[in-house]
Amino acid sequence: MKRGFLNGSKVKKEPLYPGSETSSGAAPPSSTNDSGAKGKGKEKEKEKPAPAFTKLAYGKVDKIGLPENYESPEYTRLETDPSKTDHPSDLLLMTTIPPRTYEGPDDPDGHSEWIVLGPTKAKVLNHPQYPKPVPKPIPAEGADGPAFEIRDTPDTAMSKGLFALRDIKVGQLIFAERPLLVSPRNIGLLGATYIPEGRSHDMNTIQAVAMYEWEKQLEVAVGRMSKENQKAFKELENNHKEDGSGPLLGIVRTNGFSIEEIYDGEERTDVNSYGAILKLGSRINHSCLPNVTYNFLVPSFSFQFFAQLDIKAGEQLFFSYCEIEQSKAERDAELAPYGIICNCPVCAHATPETDALRKEFKKRTRQYTVKIRQWISEYDSAAGAGAPEGAGSSKGRLNEDMLQPILKFREGLLGEGLKYTKEYKAIAWNLHLFYEKIGVYSKSKTFLEEHSEIEEATMRGASSL
Ligand SMILES: [Zn+2]
Repeated sequence: MKRGFLNGSKVKKEPLYPGSETSSGAAPPSSTNDSGAKGKGKEKEKEKPAPAFTKLAYGKVDKIGLPENYESPEYTRLETDPSKTDHPSDLLLMTTIPPRTYEGPDDPDGHSEWIVLGPTKAKVLNHPQYPKPVPKPIPAEGADGPAFEIRDTPDTAMSKGLFALRDIKVGQLIFAERPLLVSPRNIGLLGATYIPEGRSHDMNTIQAVAMYEWEKQLEVAVGRMSKENQKAFKELENNHKEDGSGPLLGIVRTNGFSIEEIYDGEERTDVNSYGAILKLGSRINHSCLPNVTYNFLVPSFSFQFFAQLDIKAGEQLFFSYCEIEQSKAERDAELAPYGIICNCPVCAHATPETDALRKEFKKRTRQYTVKIRQWISEYDSAAGAGAPEGAGSSKGRLNEDMLQPILKFREGLLGEGLKYTKEYKAIAWNLHLFYEKIGVYSKSKTFLEEHSEIEEATMRGASSL
């Protein structure tokens, strides 16, 4: 693919995906640095004069237009049999999943349009549990219909959002849906190999051509959707109206969800994965204190959205577009291209300390866990050696003061909305053990209950998988 760019005038018939040793390139959309270019083959990349291209640079790109006299190559990427799985390895298809039949009715859970390499389609269709229906939330007692609605947000910067119509317990499945569209995150796959003879192959020209070609592919894919899905797709936000993205690509770039579970080849990297556009999920706004999390299920080809905190009726649903460990400044940079200035409680109270907490909370959890276990085991071995009770005894050496930094850390986790993480759960469990050991049973019980509550929430999520 990339070699097509670098070598210029001819559309080469070679594997669309050159493989991991040559596929690293421009910064991935999900990253503000060049982390996507790290990894195998990076050393070789450095020696090449022209920039390798696989994906659009993150954020806005310069609008420079197409090269003069640009002629678009002709592509046909349709398939006649959507159930077929023995495609050539470099064939990029436009398919529908689950497949539509001529005679039969549509799948009651809907269909996704999918632009995909043949072998990757085969991986999904050959998945041992495929196909399955899309999971349904357990209906709430005395309440019909969905647990949320789409409506305007009070924050004008956010446009529409999803709002809870009733209380939702942490861990509950709120809704699940098949995506409207799934497509490679590597838009270089989409055929923009053709640059007219004599044209310079600078990054901006390559991007402009890739975006133009991508838009044409998206027109076909969106055209294949049901009328209802086309409408839903076109109504989604577009924050890329000014940078040369076509109207459909702008929507894709604004609303994309990354799918961890679907990728080309053997191993997932930054450049071989897929992104999805969702009718409902793409409407969920960002907060660094998210109350919703999601996952993707291959057998039903669907996204599930769970409550990550207890949600009260009337509250807006949020998930985080950022990584949990990012600092305030990193989050701001990540969100800026979406036009988002985050006013969430975590951002409002961000300090160097809260930034450090996010960066280090996994490591500190491990350290504190080891520490508490060590204290307890030292206590046990001293007690086993027959040390007397009382002041100076092994029991006396374990006291609540030792816990001060850990208790403060725990407060910090709560303040950052990190209660329903495995780290917080581990801290709660170890505090329970410690207090039990020193005989402060009321606190021991409190932390045990907290641990159980987190466990139950996680189980609720897991049981609807
Ligand atoms: Zn925030």
